[in-house]
Amino acid sequence: MARYTGSVCRICRREGDQLFLKGARCFTEKCAFKRRATVPGQHGTEQMRKKPTGYEVQLRAKQKVRKTYGVLERQFRKYYEAANRKGGNTGTNLLHELETRLDNVAFRLGFGLSRAQTRMWVTQGHFEINGRKCNIPSYQLRPGDVITIRESSKIKNQIKDALEITSSRESSAWLELDRENLKGKFLALPERAQLDPKIQEHLIIEFYSR
Ligand code: SF4
Repeated sequence: MARYTGSVCRICRREGDQLFLKGARCFTEKCAFKRRATVPGQHGTEQMRKKPTGYEVQLRAKQKVRKTYGVLERQFRKYYEAANRKGGNTGTNLLHELETRLDNVAFRLGFGLSRAQTRMWVTQGHFEINGRKCNIPSYQLRPGDVITIRESSKIKNQIKDALEITSSRESSAWLELDRENLKGKFLALPERAQLDPKIQEHLIIEFYSR
C-alpha cells in the first residue's frame, strides 16, 4: 500500500500546525514546526502571503485531519461516505469513524508515542481486542471493547516507556486506562466537544460535497 515516506515534519509545516506525528520529539523544542513554521519548499513564504481560495481552505482542512490520523485518501473518502450515510451530524460521524480506529485508540491510551508507531505495532500483531488478536489498524472499536497487549508480546517494556512519557498528556474521557495491566477500554463514542476544537469538519463536508 502506498504510504508517504518523506519527512513527517514537512507535513506539519505544510498544514500550518503541529500534528504530533513524530512522537516524543513533538513535545520538545526540537520540533521542526516550532523552529520554522513556514510552508516547506522554494516558494513557501510566497504561498503563505497569498490569500487562499475557498477550495484551498477546504482542501487544507481535509488534508490536515487526514494526515493527523494517518489515513490514505481512498480510506478517508470511504469514512466520509459512511458518515454521510448515517443519520445525524455528518461531521461528527466522520470524526467518530476516525476516532474508533484501533491505531488511534491505542495512541490515545498512550500505548505509543504516535499513531504511526501504534499502527506499526498493531500490524505486527501485538494487540488483542476482547482477548482475540487483531492486527488491523483500521479495526473500529465499539463501546465496551477492551484492548490488551498480547501475553507473548516483546514490546511490553516499550509500551510501559510510552505510557510513562505520555502520562502528562491529557487523558481521553471516553477511554479507560489500566496502567498496571496494560489494558484499555473504549467506553463510549466521544462527544464533539471532547475532540480537537481546531478541526473544521464542516469544511471537509463542503470539500466532498462540491
Ligand atoms: Fe510535527 Fe512532531 Fe515534527 Fe513538530 S516534531 S513538526 S509536531 S511531527
